[in-house]
Amino acid sequence: MGDVDRGGGLRLVLLGPPNSGKGTQAQRIAAAMDVPAVSTGDMLRRAVAEGSALGRRVKETLDAGELVDDATMAELVRDRLSRPDTAGGYVLDGYPRTLAQAETLAAILDEGGESLDAAVLMDVDEDELVARALARGRTDDREEVLRERFRVYRERTEPLIGYYERLDLLHEVDGVGSIGEVTRRIFAALGVEGGVAAGADGKDSRP
Ligand code: ADP
Repeated sequence: MGDVDRGGGLRLVLLGPPNSGKGTQAQRIAAAMDVPAVSTGDMLRRAVAEGSALGRRVKETLDAGELVDDATMAELVRDRLSRPDTAGGYVLDGYPRTLAQAETLAAILDEGGESLDAAVLMDVDEDELVARALARGRTDDREEVLRERFRVYRERTEPLIGYYERLDLLHEVDGVGSIGEVTRRIFAALGVEGGVAAGADGKDSRP
């Protein structure tokens, strides 16, 4: 597909398996494009750390590597995307994770007269990701949770690749490489000028 139109801000979804570096790349892309990175994983972990009603409700689910239910996520994301800082766009990290969530996001965008600019799939195979996790010295039970998260990813989230492909929004990027390399590949895939430099050196190169 063609280059991404930045005219109305950038609304981007990052897709990829657990531990593929989505969070890191979301932060870098968001900073370079001057939009917020919206990480549902961070939001949920914060809720757990704060011991809020939501946090208490989702803690077990997070600990088990399962998905929080779509209705809870819809409420969380709808609320987050209604805040003024997202008016000019955002990078979504960790949402959508199911087809139902993708449809919720489409509805939220539609209500605001907006549309998604692109979905970027960070391609990293599972062996590489397990190797990364082991290199970080994860304990056995965490490895089990990691495997469960992969299983959930394949079953629930992978169908989104076809979903965004059919909408002609999917950009696939090789997610193996240095952080800077992967950022450059994402900007190159999006055809975003200037973002290449911004992503590469962390500076804002826009006029
Ligand atoms: P990752 O390490 O893959 O980047 P995240 O930080 O995105 O993981 O998410 C951590 C956990 O938060 C998930 O395993 C899941 O339990 C929950 N979670 C995050 N986003 C969603 C979502 N969109 N739908 C359901 N559960 C979610």
